[in-house]
Amino acid sequence: MTDIFSEHHALAQDAADPLRRFRSEFLIPPHGDGELTYFVGNSLGLQPRGAAAAVQAAMDDWARLGVEGHFRGDPPWMHYHEHLRDGLAEVLGAEPIEVTAMNTLSVNLHLLMVSFYRPTPERPAILIEAGAFPSDRHVAESQVLHHGFDPATDLIELQGDEPGGTVSMEAIERCLAEHGHRIALVLWPGVQYRTGQAFDIAEITRLARARGCAVGFDLAHAAGNLHLQMHDSGADFAAWCNYKYMNGSPGAVAGAFVHARHAEAGLPRFAGWWGHDKHTRFQMGPEFVPSPGADGWQLSNPPILGMAPLRASLALFQAAGMPALRRKSEQLTGYLHALVGEHLADTLEILTPPDPARRGAQLSLRVRAGREAGRALFEHLSANGVLGDWREPDVIRISPAPLYNRFIDVLRFVTCVQAWRDTRG
Ligand SMILES: *Cc1c(COP(=O)(O)O)cnc(C)c1O
Repeated sequence: MTDIFSEHHALAQDAADPLRRFRSEFLIPPHGDGELTYFVGNSLGLQPRGAAAAVQAAMDDWARLGVEGHFRGDPPWMHYHEHLRDGLAEVLGAEPIEVTAMNTLSVNLHLLMVSFYRPTPERPAILIEAGAFPSDRHVAESQVLHHGFDPATDLIELQGDEPGGTVSMEAIERCLAEHGHRIALVLWPGVQYRTGQAFDIAEITRLARARGCAVGFDLAHAAGNLHLQMHDSGADFAAWCNYKYMNGSPGAVAGAFVHARHAEAGLPRFAGWWGHDKHTRFQMGPEFVPSPGADGWQLSNPPILGMAPLRASLALFQAAGMPALRRKSEQLTGYLHALVGEHLADTLEILTPPDPARRGAQLSLRVRAGREAGRALFEHLSANGVLGDWREPDVIRISPAPLYNRFIDVLRFVTCVQAWRDTRG
């Protein structure tokens, strides 16, 4: 049997990786004379080489054409977001009509909740996970308040019931059985940012809809990470940012998914002219006629410069394909899991579920020696060019991104932690 804890093994895995060519499509930040070992694609994805050219092309069209860029740009700005559609649909496992690029994530959650959170006195509540990303909690709480309900009773936060703070499907099912009749909306993560737990989106949707709840997903940590099947899941809506695994640039234009069954349903919404039917938008009439599908939720003419890098990134996702990316991701994170379990169990506790179906790329690693030692370990890693991220009080998140991370990167993280541990004696 080969020793997986060997450079030989890691390099052989990299040599056999069918996606290995994609790393050279990214700008890897330098560290000293070499490259940073970057495990923070769950926070800000790296820059695709094609991104700068895509931005420059838009700048050149602006310089060359002025306002005519709307019609004669390459591609014309008027339809720019439509060039993102097929790529986003592939990543989301959605039909093209179900996705659009617009705004930013928190904005999209609010806009979609205007349509899908329709509370009544009998059914006023929103269900989220306890310890949700602060913005998601703020969005949900302020929506409850906006409708005149009381977050103390009508913002239900489900506590994790498993070791490490993850949530079992049984706990979700029990919660829906008990409170489902009062829940207007289930707002759930595809992958929970703190624990790295991936959820069964189709099953949560099925359970929620069986109780008469609307159901939406925050896919911030799932888009470009899991092999999503959003159409088949039957979820009402989803929103995600495009700067994490999607590599779409800092603060990139975000995404929205609205299930096809709502495409022509004329749902209530906060409207803007860019959501108006594109065939008559420029007749500038007073009446709002929504575009079919997710496009009908757009408000404004979108920032071309905020979408250009995403075009370059989506081309890479389409070339690699989500099934192959997910396959590599499971191997890469599986490798990290095995090495940490075998060689660092005394130092790091893995909070993320061990079942590959219940996690994405990220492992959340609790430093057993506590916060002070954890900070020291994090500093040691950073000083040695291994970048993860730190979550208070004692967690380091490591996310090998299958488009650009390698098996040798994972091995490097593990040997770096080991060196730190061994010097502490
Ligand atoms: C990254 C992230 C956000 C960030 O929201 P923005 O509106 O893009 O600033 C929100 N929610 C979750 C779950 C995230 O992971």
